[in-house]
Parts: sequence; C-alpha cells; structure tokens
Amino acid sequence: MAADIKAPPLREFPTIPALVPDAMAHSMPYVASDKIQEAIGFPGKLEEGWENKAVAKLGELVGKYRSLRVFMDACVHCGACTDKCHYFIGTQDPKNMPVARQDLMRSVYRRYFTPAGKWFPKLVGAKDMTKEVLDDWYKYYHQCSECRRCSVFCPYGIDTAEVTMAGREILDAVGYGQKYSNEIIGKVHRIGNNLGLPGPALEDTLLGLEEDVKEETGADVRYPIDVKGAEVLLITPSADFFAEPHVDSLIGYGKVFHAAGISWTLSSKASEAGNFGMFIGNYDQLRKIALRIREAALELGVKRIVVGECGHAWRVAYSFWNTLIGVGAGGKDPFAIELQRQLDQRHKQPTHICELTWDLIQRGALRFDKEKNDHRVITFHDSCNVARASRMGNTPGGQFEIPRNIIRAAANHYVEMAPDTIREKTFCCGGGGGVLTDELLDLRVKGALPRMEALRAVADGQGVNFMATICAICKAQFTKVLPYYGFKMNMVGGVHQLVSTAIRLGDQ
Ligand code: SF4
Ligand code: SF4
Repeated sequence: MAADIKAPPLREFPTIPALVPDAMAHSMPYVASDKIQEAIGFPGKLEEGWENKAVAKLGELVGKYRSLRVFMDACVHCGACTDKCHYFIGTQDPKNMPVARQDLMRSVYRRYFTPAGKWFPKLVGAKDMTKEVLDDWYKYYHQCSECRRCSVFCPYGIDTAEVTMAGREILDAVGYGQKYSNEIIGKVHRIGNNLGLPGPALEDTLLGLEEDVKEETGADVRYPIDVKGAEVLLITPSADFFAEPHVDSLIGYGKVFHAAGISWTLSSKASEAGNFGMFIGNYDQLRKIALRIREAALELGVKRIVVGECGHAWRVAYSFWNTLIGVGAGGKDPFAIELQRQLDQRHKQPTHICELTWDLIQRGALRFDKEKNDHRVITFHDSCNVARASRMGNTPGGQFEIPRNIIRAAANHYVEMAPDTIREKTFCCGGGGGVLTDELLDLRVKGALPRMEALRAVADGQGVNFMATICAICKAQFTKVLPYYGFKMNMVGGVHQLVSTAIRLGDQ
C-alpha cells in the first residue's frame, strides 16, 4: 500500500458529501508520449491551431452522434445525478459531479454551436476552448470510469459516459492522449493482448495450468490454444493467463468445458477480450482491436465464440461485435458474412461464459459439491458494463440473475449487498474505464468508497468473506484497494473460481 494514499472513512449512513472544490485538481494520468500516440495513428502532441482542431472535432462528434448533441442540449440542471457518482462521493470534488463533468464540454459546445453562446457567452456559461479548459478535460474525463450509474438517475437519460468518451476522443485527436490506454492499444495491435504476452509464453502458462489441475483433481483437463476445428473459441482477458485471482476463473472455464465434453480453444492471435478502444471513445481503434478476433475465428474454423469474465469486453462483444466483425447479425462486409455462415447460429453469438455455464447447469450437465465452498460466505459485485450496458440470457435482467444463479448452484452461502448498490444501481469498483493505472491510485481508492461501505456492512453483519465478480478490471482494482479499507486482498475472485472449487470432474 502506498503510505501517502489514505482511504476516506467509511460512513455508516451515507449522506451527500460536503463540497471540497478542486480536491482532485492534482489528479491526472500520465500523458502519452509522441511515440505512443503516433504508433496508433494520433498526433504526437498539441500543435499550433489545436484549439480549432478540438472545436472542429467536437462539431464532427455532435454531428455524427445525435445522442451527444441531445446530451449537450437537454440537461436542465435538475441535480438528480449530482451525488450518484462514486468519484464525487469519494473525492468531494464538485467537478466530479456528473452534471459538472458534462458541463466541461457543454460550456464549449454552447460557445461554438449555439446562437446564445456565440452572442452572449457569459449569460449562458459558454467558454472558449483554451488550454486551461483542455487541461480540465484531461483531468476530469480521466476521473470518470464510464460506468453509467449517473444515467440511471437522470430523468432525461443523459449518459455522462458518452460525454467522457467524446472528451477523450477529442483529446486524442489533438495529441493529448493518455499513456495507459494508448500504450495498451498499441500492444494489442502488435502482439494481441493488453499485457504484451507472446504466444509461447501463453502456451507455457497453459501447460502449467494443466499440470496444476491434474495434481489437484487427477483429471486431464486441457487448456488448448490455436486448435483448428475446435467448437468453441474462448476470448478472455489476458489477465486470466497470469494475474491472481483471474487465473482461477480460467481454470474454472477449462473445467466446465471438460465436464461438459465441449471442444474448445484459446487463440494466440486473439488473446485479449478487453478492448480499450471503447474507453477512449474511438471507433477505428475499437474495430481494429476486434478484427483480430474475427481473423482468429475464421482461421480456426470455430462454431461458437464465448467470452470470459470481463465487464467492458462483454459490453463490446454484446453491443458492437455484430456490426464490427460479424459475430451476431448485422455485419455486411464479405468477411463478416463468411463468419456468420461459419458460426453455428443455433447458439447465441457471442455467448458469455456465464450463459454457457448456466445453460449446462440447467440441463444437468454439470454437478457440484457445494460444500467445497462452505468456507466462503459470498456476495456478488455487479460490474458496471455488464449491469448497465449489456444483457445475458433471454429475459430482462438476465445479466443480474445468471451469475447469481451460478453462485447459488456452486455454493451454499450467498448474501446480497444493499439494494441501492447492486444490479442496475451498482457502484463501479473505482478502476474501470481506463483509470486502472498506478498514478491514479488515489482516485481509485477514493472511488471505491461506496462499494467498500456496502461490503463492510455485509462483512460485519453477515460474515461475508468473499466478493465474486465477473470483470478482470474489478478483480485487479479490488485486489489493490481492499487493504486500504481493512479487507484482505484475496477476498475478491471470479464466479468461475467458485465453479472451479466445487465442480465435479468425470466420476469423482
Ligand atoms: S459515468 Fe460513472 S464515473 Fe462517470 S460521471 Fe457517471 S457515475 Fe461518475
Ligand atoms: S440528472 Fe440529467 S438533467 Fe439532471 S442535472 Fe444530471 S444530467 Fe442534467
């Protein structure tokens, strides 16, 4: 733990926090170098005339995305969203109120794209595009995890996450990009995953997992990679290959496929479910990253594409893969059509690993020794992108019920956190949306406050000692911030970690 970072005190009865202006004015992620920027096609740095370029880009975006223009025009400053953001609650900085975050862009939009702002800027709070304004964008659009919680409470459905994405897109377009996200995107283009792990390293890890599982269970569970003709291609976050507790879920996926007799493979070309193109709001990057998955699927000739435990990856897969790459209906280019023909359309394309596992449980294809999880009292943290930007199964709310159903099938002791902190009202872990970087640790610790308060209540009240989640970023974030709130870092893990503990393999 960094000694100079302090968690805010947990509040027994959460109230609207007092305002501390500029409390987080110091917080900003490292700026991308010109090398990192140019490697993915963005300008290396701010150049003369950037102000005009930024305004032109804003004009392009409000022209292209009608939603963004509506968000700029429709806010009535009713205040319903103000205390709904975990970063505002944890930092008390008024610029972290969702409406204030939007206003950073709205003031510039008004100045250049509304008659009132052009003629009477002061009357309508319109502002010129200046370096001071751009610096505020850089700071506060990187204090939003694009979690969409505020939009649940807005009577007009204004989505601050979309505003943040547009803000970041403009920042990149003028050469003021974020090092963390843009460096990762470059690695995916070059190597295939966020961690920059080459194929041989992945193979070694997977062989090691096979040996570990054999030792633990006696079963020959395989963790195959680049197997042509496999039925399922599993696309999972690269953290699952190496990080703790992520790898325990990867072990669990393998056990599910083994127990159900489904042939499957990972891919060294598409060894990343995450897609940081969404975090920076850039369609071209989003598509280029996703195309690796289509190439791998076509080369391997698979029939199904299944996505592992990763929140924003599932959002991208569920909402965008159809038109981006042809997984699901809608893609119109020849390769998308070829992939649609190749995939078995009797299955949902793509399928979330939780949908696959729950379907197998319902059909009696998986059996569990639930008592193997009896040392755990479990709660479930809904990850933002799954909860508010996707679905699972065939009924509304499936994204909430299916992971919980799996936990209850694999374990005896399950407890819910407070209702206003779960399901569609879930609080972000504090590390999503491209802020999971060490220089933002202060923000991440403070942003975790509401989730930590809810966890403390069930830990003290009902003995909860394990928080399950289905997101690689949530797992990494909680592992880091739990100790700041007096919890053990290993009390977070995946739903398929619980599956892995209790699943019966073969005739066991
Ligand atoms: S999207 Fe989430 S992080 Fe961003 S302002 Fe809204 S509540 Fe805060
Ligand atoms: S809830 Fe919606 S309309 Fe009200 S202040 Fe927030 S963004 Fe504006």
